[in-house]
Amino acid sequence: MEVDYIIVGQGIAGTMLSYYLLQQGNTVVVRDKYQPNSASYTASGIINPITGRRFVRTWMIESLMPFAENAYKTLEKELNIQIFQQTQVIDFHASTQMHLAFNSRLPEEKEYLSISYQNNQWNSAFNYPFGVGIISPVYLINLQKLLTAWRKKLQAQSLLLDTFFQLNHLQLFPESIQYKQIKAKAIIFCNGIQAAHLPYFNKLPFAPNKGEALLLNIPQLPRQFIYKQGISLVPWQDHLWWAGSSYEWSYNNHLPSETFRTKTEQQLQKWLLLPFEIKAHIAAERPATIERRPFVGLHPYFPQVGILNGLGTKGCSLAPFFANAFSKHLITREPLLPEISIHRFQKILKP
Ligand SMILES: Cc1cc2nc3c(=O)[nH]c(=O)nc-3n(C[C@H](O)[C@H](O)[C@H](O)COP(=O)(O)OP(=O)(O)OC[C@H]3O[C@@H](n4cnc5c(N)ncnc54)[C@H](O)[C@@H]3O)c2cc1C
Repeated sequence: MEVDYIIVGQGIAGTMLSYYLLQQGNTVVVRDKYQPNSASYTASGIINPITGRRFVRTWMIESLMPFAENAYKTLEKELNIQIFQQTQVIDFHASTQMHLAFNSRLPEEKEYLSISYQNNQWNSAFNYPFGVGIISPVYLINLQKLLTAWRKKLQAQSLLLDTFFQLNHLQLFPESIQYKQIKAKAIIFCNGIQAAHLPYFNKLPFAPNKGEALLLNIPQLPRQFIYKQGISLVPWQDHLWWAGSSYEWSYNNHLPSETFRTKTEQQLQKWLLLPFEIKAHIAAERPATIERRPFVGLHPYFPQVGILNGLGTKGCSLAPFFANAFSKHLITREPLLPEISIHRFQKILKP
């Protein structure tokens, strides 16, 4: 069998890259071992234009957000699913300092920040002694539904193999690769944090990061918003709420931890006034990078091997934009942005 590209991994990176490559008339085969504890299946799916304790705009959000909206809405139509929701973050300030930081940003960030004129509106549901602000618009993507629907579509066309990729079966030739029975122009790794163990990419400055969330039943909480006070409460599939997350840099395994569960339960008991029940606890590793920018492109010394990775905490907004840019680059060699191209690591990638 011969195809243009083999893609390893069908998280949000592999989903978007296979989508754009197919759309542009290429042939692809995706090899992905389904693992429910991957980053994309664990993520809450938020695209929030504002970040951090100083309430600043996230990198490139003016380009990323409209692109993502268009991409997810197009996929909704093509796959006949509902995955895109425009919403707001109701930001209950966690301290006087956070309240002051929010209010000092208000005059200069009118596009995304505002205050609620009905400050008492949430009195019966939350405890919020330091006030409340609103971040809007914020997008919420149902990644689980998208990944499952795209997987089914690929499987129906025999374009997805649900097995592990094994490096010892990969052979490189001057202008092609062979993986078992499949020949291709190139193989592209969209395998999340597992790429940090591949000899082609293990020198890239990955900064693996663990995140956990509790899945809750909160029957009385209105589902049209995301609520935040240190942790976020996000409307999740099956009428559940996603409560998280942590950002752990040092850990022994990527399993749910008792420490996170106890801490989050205590936080919820202080903040949330409505009855809740913990139904599940999930955890995954984020493919984060030291300089918080993605890794995109063909290897400078093995141009038959590529990568779309390092999406960190922002897979939902970064994946559509940079998968599209990478697919164009593969076809027309249109240059990639220097900040995301792996050619910025040419020196350290030298074999
Ligand atoms: C708790 C948590 C909350 C998050 N919340 C958000 C959020 O609200 N918004 C946001 O934008 N981002 C969020 N993120 C980050 C987001 O999840 C990631 O940026 C994104 O999912 C990374 O996608 P990926 O496709 O690169 O990797 P992954 O999702 O890890 O996908 C990699 C795929 O490759 C497969 N694979 C790996 N190795 C092999 C192999 N050898 N053979 C075959 N298949 C293989 C895996 O099974 C998997 O399917 C969150 C992450 C976590 C952990």
